[in-house]
Amino acid sequence: MNEYPSPNSEEYLALRSCLREPITEMYEVQHLLGEAADAHLAGDGKKAAIAIKAADIPIIRDWIESLWGDKNKYPEKVHFLRIREVSNLQPSLPKGKRVKARQPSKQVAAMVIENFGWHCAYCGIGLINRAARRQLLEAYPEALRWGRKNDDKHVAFMAMDNEFDHVTPHSRGGNNNIENLVPSCAPCNCGKENWTLEQLGLIDPRKKTVMPSDWDGLVRLL
Ligand SMILES: [Zn+2]
Repeated sequence: MNEYPSPNSEEYLALRSCLREPITEMYEVQHLLGEAADAHLAGDGKKAAIAIKAADIPIIRDWIESLWGDKNKYPEKVHFLRIREVSNLQPSLPKGKRVKARQPSKQVAAMVIENFGWHCAYCGIGLINRAARRQLLEAYPEALRWGRKNDDKHVAFMAMDNEFDHVTPHSRGGNNNIENLVPSCAPCNCGKENWTLEQLGLIDPRKKTVMPSDWDGLVRLL
C-alpha cells in the first residue's frame, strides 16, 4: 500500500499551505506550554516544570525530521517536498552576489510578527519567542532540555522556534525586506530550503488571511 500520492498525480501537484500538515501533538504541546507560562507567572514552578516536560513528546521529532532531516536517513521527505518542474526559475546566485545579511534586522523582524502574529505562516503552528525560551530555560533547565545537538533539545521548543522565511530564497536573490519575509517554524523553514514556492507548489503565505489568535509566542513572560 502506498500512502503517498504518486509523482505528478493531481493530488501530488495540488497547491498546498505547507509541506506537511502538523501532527495533532503540535496543538497539544502549544496548549501545554501556554499552561506552563501561566503557571510560571502565577508562581507555580512545579506545575510549569511538569507541563514543559510533558510537552517534550518524542513523536514530534519524527515530524520535524521528516521535513528537515537528511533525505538518506528520512527517505519519506521526498513525498512531502513534491518538487515540480518550473520554467523561468530564478537562478541560484553565487555567494558573493547574494544579499549580504542573512537575517532581517530586529525592527523588520518585529514588524513581520506584528503583521502575521506568532504563528508559522505556512503550517500555522504557534511560534515561541526566543527570549521567552531563554527565560524558561533559565528557570527550568531540567524540564527544558537545550543541549548542543538536536537530539538533546526539547522537541516542542525546537519545532516552535521562531524563524523568518525568505519567500524568495536568499540564495536566489531574496532580500530581508518586510515584503519578502514571513514568520516560520523551524521545520517549514528548513524543509523549504532553497526551493521556490512554485517548485514546492506552496500557496503564497503572504496572501493568506491572518486569523485572530490568543497565542502570544509566550512574550507574556518577558
Ligand atoms: Zn510551519
